[in-house]
Amino acid sequence: MRRILAERVFPVTTDAVKDGILCLEDDGTVIGVLRPGEDGYDVSLAEKHTGWLIPGMVNAHCHLELSHVFEAVPEHTGLNGFLEHLMEVPPASEEAILEAMRNADAEMWKNGIVAVGDISNNNRSLKVKAESPIRYFSFIERFGLDPSVAEKSFSAGIDIYNELKEQHRNNAGNLTAHAPYSVSAALLTKICKHIQDVQGIFSIHNQETASENDFFQSGKGIMVERMKKMGIPTASFKPSGKSSLQTLLNTLPAQNNILLVHNTFSEEADIVSAQLYLTKLWWCLCPGANLYIEDKMPPVPLLRQHQCKITLGTDSLASNQQLDLVREMDLIQNAYPETPIEELIRWATLNGAEMLGFDKELGSFCAGKKPGCVLLECIDNKNSLILPKSRARLI
Ligand SMILES: [Zn+2]
Repeated sequence: MRRILAERVFPVTTDAVKDGILCLEDDGTVIGVLRPGEDGYDVSLAEKHTGWLIPGMVNAHCHLELSHVFEAVPEHTGLNGFLEHLMEVPPASEEAILEAMRNADAEMWKNGIVAVGDISNNNRSLKVKAESPIRYFSFIERFGLDPSVAEKSFSAGIDIYNELKEQHRNNAGNLTAHAPYSVSAALLTKICKHIQDVQGIFSIHNQETASENDFFQSGKGIMVERMKKMGIPTASFKPSGKSSLQTLLNTLPAQNNILLVHNTFSEEADIVSAQLYLTKLWWCLCPGANLYIEDKMPPVPLLRQHQCKITLGTDSLASNQQLDLVREMDLIQNAYPETPIEELIRWATLNGAEMLGFDKELGSFCAGKKPGCVLLECIDNKNSLILPKSRARLI
């Protein structure tokens, strides 16, 4: 048995225990948390650490396959500029792409991340995930605004899905849609039906730029201009007069878990209607990427006010300096200091585990789970704040 003493032990499902001792089986299975004064509480038998003990963290949104694009796209160009620059990045060798993915996977593990919701546009990352100590859920992301390519895009996704299912481990996943503006109604319908059939999870980039809403409301704006420039046919698209999210709501598979990623430009009406229509709904925040691309923070106070279930993601190294959820928490507290540290930790652990369906084993220090044990160091305990120097590591 392993006994670990820390300044705070935070089981996530209950309050943080000051000077608690986390008791684990030798294989990492949680036995329980002892409070000072309780039977069996003996600091002389425990490993001693300075900081908070929290369960292994869950990165709800990443693109492992873009790891080699690190520092290749300039900051603050807006999403349309970002996507244009991304297309212009010179191709890398298969070897370099593979090495960058392995390094990114190792970086996440080192930073206390034990599970990832990872976007795959191709099959490149499958092998890296099969060999990783991290638990992955792969979202096989599809594009195609032109309805005539719906079948082709869908069946190419099914080929990747079948390959994923043959992996000896980390074979959880399903097809999903990239963004409201990049899939036709025909393709979206096929994807939603597939997700219902395989009892999967629907994830979509949502309202990452203001021009996404312009596209749906009026059919005008810089998003349409970019599409024209890139030769994407928009003729079959009809503006709904509503925001992108409100347009999509009744198409989404409401019986399945749904993850809306970014939400940087979501307004109160969007949040209220989504919360009303979709009961298994999570909102993923990737502030590092939002600041990198649009230089804007997501509306955290609004999401908290409406009791939204929030998860945290790093997005990819194409739009972030690191794959580290502590940095994402720090950015949120920096912009919104009223956000309690306990809430941030819940978003980075249990909420992500529940969204991915990994919560039987991960996400909290409940007896019988094997969530991994992370030491969160250099916290301002007096003010309960994450600091720029705060770090997490698996212990
Ligand atoms: Zn993304």
